[in-house]
Amino acid sequence: EVDVPESHPRYESLLTRHRIEAGVEKGITSKQGLIAQGRGEAYDYLLGERTIPSADEAARVAAAHFRLADQAVVSVNGNVAALCPGEVVELADATGADIEVNLFNRTAERMERIADHLREHGAEAVLGLSADGRIPGLDHERATVDADGIGSADVVLVPLEDGDRAEALAAMGKTELVIDLNPLSRSAQSASVPIVDNVIRAIPNITEHARDLRDAPETALRDVIDGFDPETALGTAEDAIRSGDLD
Ligand code: ATP
Ligand code: MG
Repeated sequence: EVDVPESHPRYESLLTRHRIEAGVEKGITSKQGLIAQGRGEAYDYLLGERTIPSADEAARVAAAHFRLADQAVVSVNGNVAALCPGEVVELADATGADIEVNLFNRTAERMERIADHLREHGAEAVLGLSADGRIPGLDHERATVDADGIGSADVVLVPLEDGDRAEALAAMGKTELVIDLNPLSRSAQSASVPIVDNVIRAIPNITEHARDLRDAPETALRDVIDGFDPETALGTAEDAIRSGDLD
């Protein structure tokens, strides 16, 4: 797909950049998405471009929430659609979650293109296009969700969500699972479960944990959740970044 030798020491990172670039060319990723990607990459570099143990634990906790949810939704924006569409579909299949397109800079055209792109990667149903629900406390455009999707879900995975919207969703009482490489971001800080990791690693990792927890009894799932503290997870990630210790 791109002309990067696999032996290149930063192969994954270069591949990721090409995917985002291709997403912009296809009209699924916004130009703002390029800036968000650059920001994420800086944190990923400082984390050693790997899943730190506390992020792996958070991914397992997220998987336990998916298992216990009445209705879970995976929210997809232009960056996530460009970076890991197949992995999102696999997560939804493994957990029974719905997929909803949810854009910060919402245009009908980009919504359609992302929905098509997800269907090309195997998604059966894609929510977000009916836009008949509202997140209280946000202005019109950014408040729009599907009433029978994010609007009614008890568990929502929002990778790379804008801070304002993440806070508004949390205020609705939803269990909010956030993937964000910046532990200082308001999105990460408002999450019930902040996963400080790259979406391209975190999403397949949640899927793997969900499969592993498939037959776990409810009490075991509750134990996984109760043993997790979001503040500690954020602190551990920040320490890993500040220490520059890549072990
Ligand atoms: P706020 O503090 O309000 O949350 P923000 O800095 O998060 O603001 P944006 O730049 O819109 O605002 O957010 C992009 C976020 O997404 C950044 O925190 C960045 O670290 C994160 N991010 C970007 N690419 C990825 C990725 N591939 N995986 C995980 N997180 C990413
Ligand atoms: Mg943020």
